[in-house]
Amino acid sequence: MVELKDVSVTYSSGVDALEHVSLKINDGDFAFVVGASGAGKSTLIKLLLKEIEATSGSVTVNGYQLAALKKKQIPQLRRTIGIVFQDFRLISSMTVYENIAFVMRVIDAPPKTIRKRVPYVMRLVGLQEKAASYPRELSGGELQRVAIARALVNDPKLIIADEPTGNIDPELSYEIVDLLRTINMQGTTVMMVTHEHELVKRFGGRIINIDKGQIVFDDIMEGTDYEV
Ligand code: ADP
Repeated sequence: MVELKDVSVTYSSGVDALEHVSLKINDGDFAFVVGASGAGKSTLIKLLLKEIEATSGSVTVNGYQLAALKKKQIPQLRRTIGIVFQDFRLISSMTVYENIAFVMRVIDAPPKTIRKRVPYVMRLVGLQEKAASYPRELSGGELQRVAIARALVNDPKLIIADEPTGNIDPELSYEIVDLLRTINMQGTTVMMVTHEHELVKRFGGRIINIDKGQIVFDDIMEGTDYEV
């Protein structure tokens, strides 16, 4: 769950990146966050991860009130969030399997749990055949599937996908959003940040539009070729 109440962020340079933003994404929801470059999308993501602080207002993420969260508790918060980046951020010297397993090793998951969970997640994203492949051997769409598997493997409550289709071609972009929808249907909250209005129109659903630091639209829209 994500809740912002009257949140503003002013950078030390004096730029108002977010102004009086109020927003609630409930557990199990899927929301697109759209907006032009400079609208405040990255600032919103950084706020949710507590990489930056709100100048005013309150932010709650997965039960954590971020203003009250101590520095040493930040890793606990971040463990409840899986992030998918536009540029994949995979480790080139590791296979698909190792890339995914690595994220579990970092949090000291037991080897037995890793051996069960990694194949499950690879199947979910449709990459079971690619377990032994290296990132350089994969297409853009496949790389993004590995990145999604990594975001998902520690069973986060919320997945934030930051321009996940920015580096892949339009038809594969559709598949990536479809995959995120499938993951959402299994109970994970998904917030997908994008500037691709066409993609959002095709899928429909909850669309939150940020413009110049303010929410100018937040509603459910019918998709053009997808049922909400
Ligand atoms: P988006 O992700 O939608 O492109 P950002 O959140 O990155 O937008 O930026 C929102 C506004 O805040 C922009 O005007 C940007 O120039 C400014 N901004 C972003 N990061 C910083 C920073 N670290 N210091 C000062 N201004 C920033």
